[in-house]
Formats: sequence, structure tokens, C-alpha cells
Amino acid sequence: MESRLKLVRNIGIAAHIDAGKTTTTERILYYTHRTHKIGEVHKGEATMDSMPQEKERGITIQSAATTTFWEYQANRYQINIIDTPGHVDFTAEVERSLRVLDGTVAVFCANSGVEPQSETVWRQANKYKVPRICFVNKMDRIGADFFNVVEEVKTKLMANPVPVQIPIGKEDHFKGVVDLIANKAIIWNEGDKGMTYSYESIPEDLIEVAQKYREQLIEAAAAEDESLLEKFLEAPDTIQEQELIDALRKATISLSITPMLCGSAFKNKGVQTLLNAVCTFLPSPLDLPPTTGLNPDTQKEITYPTDKEAPFSGLVFKLVTDPFVGRLAFIRVYTGQLNSGTSIYNARTQKKERISRLLQIHSNKQNPINTIQAGDICAIVGFKNVKTGDTLCNENNKILLESISFAEPVISYVIEPKKQTDLDKLTLSIAKLVEEDPTLRIATNEETGQTILSGMGELHVEVAIDRLKREFNVEVNQGAPQVAYKEKLTGSVEHKEVYKKQTGGRGKFADIVFTIGPIVSGEEEEGKTQKGLVFNNQIKGGNIPKEFIPAIQKGFENAMKHGPLSGFPVEAMQVDLMDGSYHKVDSDNLSFELCAQVAFKVAAKKAAPVILEPIMAVEVVTPDEYTGAITGDLNRQRGIMKNMGIKNQVQVIEADVPLSELFGYITRLRTLSSGRATATITFAYHAPVPSHLAEKIIANNQTP
Ligand code: GDP
Repeated sequence: MESRLKLVRNIGIAAHIDAGKTTTTERILYYTHRTHKIGEVHKGEATMDSMPQEKERGITIQSAATTTFWEYQANRYQINIIDTPGHVDFTAEVERSLRVLDGTVAVFCANSGVEPQSETVWRQANKYKVPRICFVNKMDRIGADFFNVVEEVKTKLMANPVPVQIPIGKEDHFKGVVDLIANKAIIWNEGDKGMTYSYESIPEDLIEVAQKYREQLIEAAAAEDESLLEKFLEAPDTIQEQELIDALRKATISLSITPMLCGSAFKNKGVQTLLNAVCTFLPSPLDLPPTTGLNPDTQKEITYPTDKEAPFSGLVFKLVTDPFVGRLAFIRVYTGQLNSGTSIYNARTQKKERISRLLQIHSNKQNPINTIQAGDICAIVGFKNVKTGDTLCNENNKILLESISFAEPVISYVIEPKKQTDLDKLTLSIAKLVEEDPTLRIATNEETGQTILSGMGELHVEVAIDRLKREFNVEVNQGAPQVAYKEKLTGSVEHKEVYKKQTGGRGKFADIVFTIGPIVSGEEEEGKTQKGLVFNNQIKGGNIPKEFIPAIQKGFENAMKHGPLSGFPVEAMQVDLMDGSYHKVDSDNLSFELCAQVAFKVAAKKAAPVILEPIMAVEVVTPDEYTGAITGDLNRQRGIMKNMGIKNQVQVIEADVPLSELFGYITRLRTLSSGRATATITFAYHAPVPSHLAEKIIANNQTP
């Protein structure tokens, strides 16, 4: 088992649009597929030619995970490629994939280098501590400059790039690479689509440069390993290749270095060596810490080792509706094993479901498998009630893994079908979209009965509406966009509420004393804020009997859905229940629940409530001549400038701007820049609305 797991790599391929992610992935599938078939009768040049169809059919390939195998140094590695979207607008997608992969290949274009928007994805990968290697693609392009990209990875991404290869030739003359670890040149054979390559001695004119970079590489490795450091200082010639590899691997996995490789996917050069590097440097599931989660019954933390003998735990990270097999739930298995035809427990629904089939998705086929084990990724067919982020486990050894955190939607639209007869179809199709993408939400306005579609931004919702039309054949009318505001209590107050009703017969009685305010945070992990109601029962001596306490909590939980200022939800608050009293006959659960609800209405008003609005991080990339117009416009929209600077000959402007000021921004930007500037808009954080605007919002009593 251990030896098999050692050979598993769960990787993502991340790139800025146009850097060559698709081409590199296709070449990877091409070479791995062919290698897999070595020894079989060769059936002509079919593989490469069938790629377009694979792409067409491969909705599942593009959207979730593909498994492939690669032979390297007499081992057969299993590489699961998890799709990572290139577009940062869909940050939830990026976060989701970063949760389940163990390492990433970052693809850059040798000419355009580190594009501004790559920085966002790089930072996210830092947050999730994902080890990376970089592939500098398009070495055949005019202006290709490997060392410039290395420099940019250092200065723009603040990483510690270490070339493990350097290019031989560039542009039209790009032929191969110097492998700095083996100290040899690798030259690809153009005649056979780069299927074969030969090891040669390093070209004369590169010996000196290669020597310089090899020394850098040894130094980087030595920094990680004391015995290597000694050797490096005293007898550098005695350093063995394997020692070097081991130290570099360790340094990559601990995020101290980022190995840099190069090639040209399009010209079939450098892909096999990239695959070798994936196997050499990126972690196997065994290199990662054991899996921890909570026991859902006791809330105690539990840890399972990455082992097939451990109790089963797996995370559903994507749902995809495949036109051929129906709904597929993609899971990452962390511990234990699961067999097809058996049942598994869903920690959210608290129900067992039967697994009708397990599928491994390959580039051109879906391969049924009988069993899946720790460290692996596969798709489950046959699940009925499942959501992205669900933990699957063993009913007798329950565990709840940290779910994938999805941001709450920030923008809403009222939608209706163009043809009234499409109403049912609309409901069904939206349900499918929402299932695939948890950052889309659908709701019905209780007062008007209107359908409200919410998402993470204008573009996000537009894409969804476009999918309704193209994939489900439902056309909709959409209303004006509305900001999803929230409310927050910023001060703490103490309050006593007595709820009393005497209407003949048995009455109602409840009395509670409590403080209410923002959550007083304990130790929080960076970037994570607590949500919901933090409820502390501090009552001693039974002034309110225990049995009524949950009703009080429930009362507050329900009440906070409608904040004191304008009815927007209060996302987080803390209530410390201090004291109270009850009546032997008249008190019951309902009395206390209603008492809490009434109390909230009065007390929350006194707890310095504010309205919060979503603030978006706007990044505009524009030719310099439009900078003035664009920044002027952003300033008028209550934007706060964060950063400006020329990168790759274009001006990059970063600003935080309230979402309410950004409706139609892309169109406005087009006008301002004669269509030459582009913008990415992602949700950043919530901030209090300035008071004069808050008054307007309250006056309009605009509900989201
Ligand atoms: P993606 O947007 O990152 O998936 O990029 P694609 O793989 O679709 O590539 C974008 C464009 O660059 C396409 O026209 C590719 O043919 C081209 N391309 C990809 N790799 C290379 C390369 O190594 N050299 C050159 N010259 N072009 C490439």
C-alpha cells in the first residue's frame, strides 16, 4: 500500500489564460497515454488526432479530474490532474481545487512572463500551502526569455525560484534543455512529435552558464540539508545526484523553493521532463500531514493516518452532470478505502447511500474501478443527496472534514422565464447549476413570490444565465442587480427581556438577561472569521432550566436573519446568556424562543448596528494612456486605490470598490479605454456603508 501511495500525485495545472495550460495538459495526456501503451500493437497516429473530440466530449475532463499514468525510473506513477480554472473571477473554483490537490504546476509564457493576475492565484496557493513547480512554456516564441521569467517569479511572486533546467537555444532555435541535476543536455527529436529525446553533452557555449546555475541549485539544496551543506562547503564534487534530488524535493514540499523548468508544449519539447519533475519534486499523499477532522457527535478532533487500513474519509469536491452517465460526484479520498456496491455515510445528511459505481476518469474513457483508497481521486455514480463539500465516512467511525469554504453571494437578480411555460424547466435547470456551483444561490422572495438568483459578481451570474440558455434551453428576463447587504452589531449591550402573556388558561412566561454584540474572537486562524451565532450559556444554579436553553438559542438564530436596521441578515453575533427566570406552569420552549426573538429586536438596535456592503477587489490592466481616466472614474465610485504600476508594458491598477458602484463597470471601462482595458473583479471583504448612504438604504428599506 505504502509503495503504491508513494507513486500517486494529485496535481493541478494553473496558468494565466493563453499561457498554454490546455496545450500542456493535452500533451501530457498524449505522452502518458502513449507510454501506457508501449508494448502494444501501435494502431497508427490516432491519439493526437483524436484530441479535439476528447476536448468536446471531455466535459468531465475539463471540469474535474483526469487520471493518467507515467513511467519514470522503473516506477509507474499515477497522476491525477485536477482542473484549476484560469479565470480568477471564479475564485471559489480555485479554492475548491486547491483544497484537494497536493501540488501544482504553474505554467507561464516565456514571453509575457508573470501576468498580473497570476499573482492572485499564487497567493491563494500560498494560503493553502500548496508546493509548486513552474513550467516556462512557449520557449519557441519570439522574445522568449526563461531567465526573465525566473526573475519575475522572484520579484513579483516573492518566491524562491530555482532553475533545475536551462534552455538550449530559444525562439526558432529552441532545441532542448540542460538538466542541471544530471548535468546533461536533453535534445528532443522533432521527427516523432518529441516522443523521443537523446541525452547529449552540454553545448560548449552553455557550459559556463550551466555551471553557474548548477551551483545555485546545489546551494539551494544545501540550505535544506545540513549534511549536504557540509559537503557543499568541503567537497562539492562528492555530492551525489540522489542526495541533491532528495534535498530539492524536501525544499519544494516545504515551500522553500520553486523548481523552474522550461519547454514548448506546442513544439513537443519539455513535456516528458515536466512529468518527471512532477514525480520527482511534488508530494505524494504520504508526504502530507495526516487527516484531521471533528467527530460530529462529540465535536472532538480526530486524526486518521493516510492509510487504507484507517477508517474511511473522503471529501466531495465537485458535482458534474455528465451527458452519458448522469451525475458524478468527484471525491478525494483521504483515508481508508471504499468499494463499489457498498454503502457510505454522509456526515451532513446523516444517511447512508449506496455507491453504485466508482469511475476513474481517463483522457478518453471512463474506467470503472472496484475500489478506491487513501490518497486517490475518483468519481462516484449513484449518489442522490450529495453536495459539494460533503464528508463521506464510515457510520461507525464518523468524521467531519473541514468543508470547502464558499463565500456568500454578493449580488442578486430577480429572474423569470421569457416564456411562462418554461417555469418548471427553469426551476429544474437552476437546481442543476446551483448543485455544480455552490456560490450560486436561488431563493424565492416570500412577499412577492419572485425568483432571485444570486452569485459572486455580475459576470458570474451572467455566465450562469448564459448556461441556462445554451445548455438547458431556457431564456430568462433579469431585473436590475441588487447588492446583498448585511448587518453587523459593533457594540455589546446587556439586556433583560420579560415575555409574559396571560390570556386565560395557561399563559406564557419567559425572562432572560443576556449580553449581545459582535463575536469576541478567541484564537482564529488567519483569514477565517467565525460566522453564525456564538451562544454561551453562563447560567448557574438553574434559574432557567436546561431544557429551555436550546429554545433561547433557536430564537436568537431565527431573529438574526433579519437585522435591526433594515432587515438584512446579521451574519455573526455573540449572545452570552447570564440570568433569567421561569414560571413553573406558564414557561415552555415556545415562550423562551419568542422571548429571545423579541429581545433581539430591542437589544440589537442598542448594540451599535451598521449596514455592511460587499467591497470588490478590482484589477484593471490598461495601456498607460488611459490610466488617468480610469483612476479618476474609480475614485468617483468610492474606490480606494491600493496599487499601481507598470508591468509587462501595461499599467496595472488595483483598487477596492464597493459593489454597488460597479454595476455595468465593464461596459464603462470599455468606453473609457476604447475597448483596450480589461478588469477582473473579485469579492474582497465587507465594510460598513458610510452613514449618509446607510440612511438612504434604510429609507428605501431595500431588501435583497
Ligand atoms: P490556455 O489558455 O492557457 O489553456 O492556453 P492554450 O493551451 O489554449 O494556448 C494558447 C495559445 O498558445 C494557443 O494558440 C496555443 O496553440 C499556443 N501555444 C501553447 N503552447 C505553445 C508553445 O509552446 N509555443 C507556442 N508558440 N505557442 C503555444
